[in-house]
Amino acid sequence: MQGPVITWVADHRRHHAFSDKEGDPHSPWLFGTGVRALARGFWHSHMGWLFDRDLTNAERFAPDLLADRDIDRVSRLFALWSVLTLLAPALIGGLVTWSWWGALTAFFWAGLVRVSLLHHVTWSINSICHMWGERPFAARAHSANVWWLAILSFGESWHNLHHADPTCARHGVEEGQIDLSAAVINGFEKAGWATSVRWPTSRRLEKLSKAA
Ligand SMILES: [Zn+2]
Ligand SMILES: [Zn+2]
Repeated sequence: MQGPVITWVADHRRHHAFSDKEGDPHSPWLFGTGVRALARGFWHSHMGWLFDRDLTNAERFAPDLLADRDIDRVSRLFALWSVLTLLAPALIGGLVTWSWWGALTAFFWAGLVRVSLLHHVTWSINSICHMWGERPFAARAHSANVWWLAILSFGESWHNLHHADPTCARHGVEEGQIDLSAAVINGFEKAGWATSVRWPTSRRLEKLSKAA
C-alpha cells in the first residue's frame, strides 16, 4: 500500500538522483546535523515526507513506465490492490475457520498488522539505513548496510551497496549477507521472465570497495 507503482518508482529514482541532497524526497539529512535537526530528519525520512506536497514528476522520472500500458494499468488500479491486500486475508481466515471471528483476526494480523509492519521496514530503509550502519562501499549518499533489517526487508537494507551500484540485482554482496530479493530475481531469470540482469562481479565490487 505504498502508493501506485509508477509514483513509487518516480520517487525512488528521484531519491537516487539527489541522494541526501536537496531534491531527495526522503533524506534524513536535509535539516542539518545537530541532534534536533537529525531527530526532525529521522521523522521526515521515515514517514513525514509522505505528508509533503512535494510531488515527483513522473513524466520526468518514469516516462518508460508511463509508456508501458500494462504497468500503467497496474498503477492506476492501486486502490483495488489496497482493498484486496486487506480483504483477501480476511476472506481466507473466514473460509479456513468458517467463522466471522476467524475473518476478523485474519483481517487484523494478516491485513492491518502485516501491512503496517512492512511499511515501517520500508520506511526504515529511508531513515535508519541513511543514518546508521556500515559503509564498506563508496557511495555518494549516507547510505549504510544494516544487518538486522536484512531478512525483514528482503535484502534492501544492504543499502550502502545499493547506492554504490544501483543497477546491481544483488544488494547483499558480501559473504553471509542474506538477500531474498536477489534470490527472487535469480529465480525469475532462470524461468526466463527476467533478462539482462546485472549480477555483481568481483572486479566491479573491488572498484566500489573503500578498502581498494
Ligand atoms: Zn537510499
Ligand atoms: Zn534504490
